[in-house]
Amino acid sequence: AVLAASGLGQLGEVWGEISQAAGATERIAELLDEQPQVAEPAHPIALSEPPQGAVRFNDVGFAYPGRPDLPALRGVSFEVRPGERVAIVGPSGAGKSTLFQLLLRFYDPVSGSVEIDGVDIARASPRAVRARLALVPQDVAIFAASIRENIRLGRPDATDEEVEEAGRLARADEFVARLPEGWETSVGERGITLSGGQRQRLAIARAILRRAPILLLDEATSALDAESETLVQQALDRSMQGRTTLVIAHRLATVLSADRILVMDGGHVVEEGTHASLVAQGGLYARLAALQFGETNGG
Ligand code: ADP
Ligand code: MG
Repeated sequence: AVLAASGLGQLGEVWGEISQAAGATERIAELLDEQPQVAEPAHPIALSEPPQGAVRFNDVGFAYPGRPDLPALRGVSFEVRPGERVAIVGPSGAGKSTLFQLLLRFYDPVSGSVEIDGVDIARASPRAVRARLALVPQDVAIFAASIRENIRLGRPDATDEEVEEAGRLARADEFVARLPEGWETSVGERGITLSGGQRQRLAIARAILRRAPILLLDEATSALDAESETLVQQALDRSMQGRTTLVIAHRLATVLSADRILVMDGGHVVEEGTHASLVAQGGLYARLAALQFGETNGG
């Protein structure tokens, strides 16, 4: 439960056949055991081919199994078009991360449905659903293995060249080049310790390597140093190219670059629009933006 709460529990299945990855440790096996279980449909239906990256929530209601009396989502409906960039904002506990949990099929809705490319994901196999998604979590898990193997978790069958290319796209190559053994340098428990910005770039490299049509970003809340901030932003911009992106946003730059912002509160989507339109509306988003970004007008 501790692992699940920290976001580590999600890692294994999102990144596919993780146990086959070179450098897999007992710790990874433990993580897989932490996965919440959903029912595999007796006759799973296939997701649409080729993948488009459309996402739709239809009147979704959900409560976590341990708290059936406390709905985490109520009547949530929204649609994200292929290639669109949508930022999700709202106070802590609003239900933002729960949207990702349902999309990843770690849980199924209690009512309503979640669709990818027009198919109700509750009727598809969890593995097929997760193959359409790449997750960059808030707390990036780094395993006791080389940099190369840590990136390869994104797609265990990737070649060394593909791993390094993803590392370059994610702006990880410069710091890797300064490490004693480059891509082979051990990180994690028995290796060197990476900064927050470096860990994030490894997570973005994993997501790029994964080549999934839908990218889920849970933006880090802790501040990065200025250099990391710039590099992480460049890495994210590259990872979002040609993909549908849902990002739980904590930074002004992220909401400004989004096509649309969904504002959540108390398990509902309470507002929807662009930064300027939502600030002009003077509602919850305007108040949150003033607090979080120091913005008081439409600028
Ligand atoms: P946010 O990401 O917006 O901060 P969450 O989606 O994490 O909010 O949480 C929505 C609600 O669900 C909160 O009331 C939270 O306490 C509850 N919740 C989140 N995760 C769990 C869980 N694993 N078990 C039970 N309740 C949970
Ligand atoms: Mg959250």
